[in-house]
Amino acid sequence: MTNMIILGPQGCGKGTQAKKISKELDIPHISTGDIFRELRKEDSELGRKVKNLIDEGNFVPDDVTIEIVKDRLKKKDCKDGFILDGFPRNLFQAKSINEVINIDYVFDIEIPHDVSVHRLSGRRTCSNKGCGAIYNIYLEPKSKEERICDKCGSNLFQRMDDQKEAIEKRLRTYHTETEPMMEFYKLKSNLVVLDGTATIDEVFEEIMNAIL
Ligand SMILES: [Zn+2]
Repeated sequence: MTNMIILGPQGCGKGTQAKKISKELDIPHISTGDIFRELRKEDSELGRKVKNLIDEGNFVPDDVTIEIVKDRLKKKDCKDGFILDGFPRNLFQAKSINEVINIDYVFDIEIPHDVSVHRLSGRRTCSNKGCGAIYNIYLEPKSKEERICDKCGSNLFQRMDDQKEAIEKRLRTYHTETEPMMEFYKLKSNLVVLDGTATIDEVFEEIMNAIL
């Protein structure tokens, strides 16, 4: 059983790494970002709440997020382990999850602030709400045409939370909230710090070497 968490500022490539780890070890990739994106499409009170928070560049409140994650980790497919992506975001969330489950490895992918801002400002989202595909003009996945969705042909746009001011705000919050959490994981788990400016394959190899 390998329970893992992948951390790092947005744009560090943690989603890509989490997908590769999930495939390699045949364990679920649990992305709170994906869960929230599904929720924001829902015409429900929770869906609308999540949509407003994300569009303003804010996070979903701890109590809601923790409940969603705890429910997900109870599912059968997590029995041999999982890779959590986008959670926990702060010490409180980390402690809450630690009360119910042991985390074996925590991977922290670090990148400089300006690299993070640049990468995130390239993100483009499909305007078709039923599709919601995400691309990046600088990174993979790139759309074949810069303004058109490969999957459904709709226009792509830059979401409010992918514009510079929202990105800066998110990164500041990220650093303030994750630093105390890193101290916690130094004591509670195997904390592995990685250089996110290396290639996707190099980072992945380091991760595999750390757990095998
Ligand atoms: Zn689309």
